[in-house]
Amino acid sequence: MKYISTRGHAGQPANPEFCDILLGGLAPDGGLYLPETYPQVTRAELDAWRKLSYADLAFAILSKFITDIPAADLKAICDKTYTADVYRHVRAGDNPADITPVHWLEKDAAGKGSFGLLELSNGPTLAFKDMAMQLLGNLFEYVLAKRSETINILGATSGDTGSAAEYAMRGKHGVRVFMLSPHGKMSAFQRAQMYSLQDGNIFNIAVTGMFDDAQDIVKAVSNDHAFKAKYKIGAVNSINWARVAAQIVYYFKGYFAATESNDQQVAFCVPSGNFGNICAGHIARQMGLPVAKLILATNENDVLDEFFRTGVYRPRKAAETHVTSSPSMDISKASNFERFVFDLVGRDPQKVAALWKQVDGGAAFDLTASGEFSRIGGFGFASGSSSHADRLATIRKVFDKYGVMIDTHTADGVKVAWEKADTVPAGVPVLVLETALPVKFAETIQEALGREPERPADLEGIEALPQRVEVMAPDVEAVKRFITTRV
Ligand SMILES: *Cc1c(COP(=O)(O)O)cnc(C)c1O
Repeated sequence: MKYISTRGHAGQPANPEFCDILLGGLAPDGGLYLPETYPQVTRAELDAWRKLSYADLAFAILSKFITDIPAADLKAICDKTYTADVYRHVRAGDNPADITPVHWLEKDAAGKGSFGLLELSNGPTLAFKDMAMQLLGNLFEYVLAKRSETINILGATSGDTGSAAEYAMRGKHGVRVFMLSPHGKMSAFQRAQMYSLQDGNIFNIAVTGMFDDAQDIVKAVSNDHAFKAKYKIGAVNSINWARVAAQIVYYFKGYFAATESNDQQVAFCVPSGNFGNICAGHIARQMGLPVAKLILATNENDVLDEFFRTGVYRPRKAAETHVTSSPSMDISKASNFERFVFDLVGRDPQKVAALWKQVDGGAAFDLTASGEFSRIGGFGFASGSSSHADRLATIRKVFDKYGVMIDTHTADGVKVAWEKADTVPAGVPVLVLETALPVKFAETIQEALGREPERPADLEGIEALPQRVEVMAPDVEAVKRFITTRV
C-alpha cells in the first residue's frame, strides 16, 4: 500500500509506504497522509472476520494498510499489543478477552442490544487513546530496531495524550519520551499517572506556566531544524496515520458485537475533538463496513458540529476556545478534519491545499457555495453538541436508569446520540464510543452524582507513589539543555 498527501506531494521516497511515514507527522507539503485507496472488504472477509479475536482482527485489517512489514512480524506485534492483560479495566460482567466489549444499556423486546457503550478505555491510562498508542509503541520499537535508529519524542500534554504516549513507550528500545505538562494544572490522579513512571526512558517536565506555554516550547524546539535533526526529535500527535489506522479495528469489532449477521447495520456516536477517532469510523465505512450513521458529538467547542450542520468550517481563535468539563474535546481546529474534507471534495489535492491556505491564514471556508457540501449526505454523518449542564444531566440519568457511571466525554456522546436517534433507521443498534473512564474526571462526577467515581483496583492509592518529575521555567533553552544531557 502506497501513501499520498491530502495536498498532493507526499515527499521522499516518492511513493512512501507505511514504515516510511510511521515516525513522521505532516507530509512535507503540510498535508496529511492517507492510503492511495481505501481497501474494500468483501462479504466473505466480513463473514470470516466476525469470529476473530481482537488481535487477529487487528492483523487482518492492518495488513491491508501495512504491506511493508512481513506478515509474521505484524501478527506478532498485534498479538503482543491487544491482550486482556493490557486492556484490563473492563466493566464488571464484561469479558476481558473481548478487549473492547459492548456494555448494553438498552435491549429490545427480543433481548437484543439496541443502545450501548463500546468500551474503549480499558487500557493502562483509562482513555481510548491507549487503543492506538499501545500499538504505536510496539511499531516504533520494531521499525527503529530494523533501521538501527532511535527517536526522542517531545510533546506537550494537558492530560490524556501525554500519559497514553508514556505508557505506550515505557521501556521501549530506541525511544525516549520528553513530555511537558503545565505545573500544578492537572488533577492529582493525572499527575500520579504520569509522574509515578520510573522507567529510564521517560522524562516528565512540569513547566511553571499554562499548557500553551508548554506547547509553544515544543513548537520552538521543533522549528530549530538543526537541533531537531541532531537530536532526532519526533512526535506522536493525533495526525499520525498509524493511530488512525489502529482505530479502524474497533469499529469492525463493535459492529460484530452489535449484530448477528453482516446484513445488518449499526450506528456509532463519537465524542470528538481533533476528528481522529471518527475519521477511523469514516474510513471503516468507506471500506464497506455496514454503518448506517456516524454521529459526531462535540461539547461547547462546536466547530465540527457547525460544519456538519452548515457546510462552513470556521476554526476558532484560542480566545474563543472554551475550557470545559470534557477537556479532551476542547479544540479550536480539528487537526484530522483535512482527511475527511479530502474525500468530500472528491480527493482533489489542489482543492484541499487551497482550502487550508485559507484556514492557515485564519479564515473560514464554506463548501455550500461551490456545491461540494451537497455530497455530504453520502457520508452518513449527523452531529450535535452538549453543554456542561447537559453532561451533568446525562451522567445522572445514565447512573439512575442503568446503574452505570460514565465520564464527561462519553456523556457528550450519549446526550447527542439520544438527541439524534431520529436520524438512525428503526432497528439499527447505536453504540456510543466510551472514550474515558469516570475516575479521570472525579470533580465533575462529584458535581453530578455527589459521590466519588469508581476506581479500578490496580489504581488504588497511586497518588501516594513516589513521583519523578523535573520542574522548570517555561524556557526553550533550558528544555533543550535538559534533552541534550539525557540522550
Ligand atoms: C482525545 C479524546 C477525545 C477526542 O478524540 P479525537 O480523536 O481528538 O476526536 C474524546 N474523549 C477523550 C476522553 C479523549 O481523550
